[in-house]
Amino acid sequence: MGIVVQKYGGSSVADATSVKRVAQRIVATKKAGHDVVVVVSAMGDTTDDLIELANEVAPLPTARELDMLLTAGERISMAVLAMAIGSLGHEARSFTGSQAGVITDAAHGRAKIIDVTPGRIESALAEGAIAIVAGFQGVSQTTKDITTLGRGGSDTTAVALAAALGAEVCEIYTDVDGIFTADPRIVPTARQIPKLSYEEMLEMAANGAKILHLRCVEYARRNDIPIHVRSSFSDKPGTWVVRTEDVDTMEQAIISGVAHDRSEAKITVVGVPDKVGFAASIFNALAEAQINIDMVVQNVSAAATALTDISFTLPRTDGQTAMTALARLQDTVGYERLQYDDSVGKVSIVGAGMRSEPGITARFFQALADVGVNIEMISTSEIRISVVVAEALVDAAVNAAHAEFELGNDEVEAVVYGGTGR
Ligand code: ASP
Ligand code: MG
Repeated sequence: MGIVVQKYGGSSVADATSVKRVAQRIVATKKAGHDVVVVVSAMGDTTDDLIELANEVAPLPTARELDMLLTAGERISMAVLAMAIGSLGHEARSFTGSQAGVITDAAHGRAKIIDVTPGRIESALAEGAIAIVAGFQGVSQTTKDITTLGRGGSDTTAVALAAALGAEVCEIYTDVDGIFTADPRIVPTARQIPKLSYEEMLEMAANGAKILHLRCVEYARRNDIPIHVRSSFSDKPGTWVVRTEDVDTMEQAIISGVAHDRSEAKITVVGVPDKVGFAASIFNALAEAQINIDMVVQNVSAAATALTDISFTLPRTDGQTAMTALARLQDTVGYERLQYDDSVGKVSIVGAGMRSEPGITARFFQALADVGVNIEMISTSEIRISVVVAEALVDAAVNAAHAEFELGNDEVEAVVYGGTGR
C-alpha cells in the first residue's frame, strides 16, 4: 500500500485530548499498512495568540522575526503529536518545514513553495517511522531564512509533500464533515458534496469558501493529487476533490455550491475622462501598491460629459492603501471623486454543469430579485457567476440561490464539531 499524507488543522489538535485522539487515528492508518506522513497546524488559536503577542511588543514586527515566531506554533504541535504516537507504541519523528525539504521563495508571510526535497521524510518512512511535518513553513532558497506560507498554509504544505512523495491521497482533516453546498451556519439545510472537481473547488475557495487554502487546490490540480476533506471527529467519508474526468456526469450537478465572501470592499472612481490610458493609470497605481483587484466594472460614458465611472473590488484590508494611492492621481487623471464602500459582500454560484445549461444567470438573478436583493456588480467565469450585494443581504442572497438550485436537504445534516471550520 502507498503513502498517505494526512493534514490536521488547528481545531483537530487543540488540546492534549484531541492530540491523543488524532494520534490513534494516525496509528490506525499505519496499522492498515500505509506509510503515513502527517502535516500539522498549530494547536487551536496558537497562531492568533502569537500574532497578538508580537503586536504587543512591536507595532510593526519585522516580517522575518514574525515568521520565526509563528513557525513555533507548528513546532509545538508536531513534537507533542510525535510524543503521543510514541506512547501508543509506534515510532514518530517530527520535522520542521526546512528539515522536511520545503524550499520557498523569500517572501515572508506569503512565501511560495518552489521545491520540495523530502529526503529525510523518505528515510524516516523507509525505517518504518511515521513522519510528522510542521505545516505552513519552509526555508528560503536565497536568504536561508525561515518563511511562512500565509494563513491557512498547512493545507498547501500537505499537498506539496503529497506531490513530492507520490502519495496516493492527501487527506485534509478538519472539524466539519467535508465541503458543503453552502456555509451551514447560513444555510442549515446545506448538503455535503461527495465529489467536486479541482476547477469547482478553486472557484469556491477563491470566492470565500474557507475550508481549503486556494494555493493548496492549485497545487493539487497541477500535480493531480486527490484531496479528501473530512472530519477528524468522525469516520464518515468526506468530500473528494478530483479531476473533472473523475466526477462522472451522472454525479455532476448543474450548480455544486454557493460561496460567499465578506472580506472585500468596493471603490468607485467617479467621473473619469473616457480617454485612452486613463484606466491603465488607475490600475497601474494600484498594482504598484501591491493590491490585488477582484471585480472591475466600467460604465459607458455619458455622451454629454464624456465621463465614466470605474468600480472595482479589493480586499478590505487594502482599502486604505488603495484610497491613498488613488488620491495621488486626482490631478493627473482628473477624476471627480472617490467612493469607498466596505459594507458589501460577494455571493457566487459555482458549478461545472452551467457550461451546458442555458438560463442559469436568469434563474440566479430572479431568485435574488424575489427576495429583494439588489445587484451592485456582476462577474462571471465559465463555471461561476458572482454578484456584489449589500453586506446585510448576503445571508438572504445565499439562501435564495441555494433554494433556487435545490441544493438543500430536507433535514439538517451539517455538524460543526470544533466550531472553526479549520
Ligand atoms: N497555523 C497557521 C494558521 O493558523 C497555518 C494553518 O493553520 O494552516 O494560519
Ligand atoms: Mg490554523
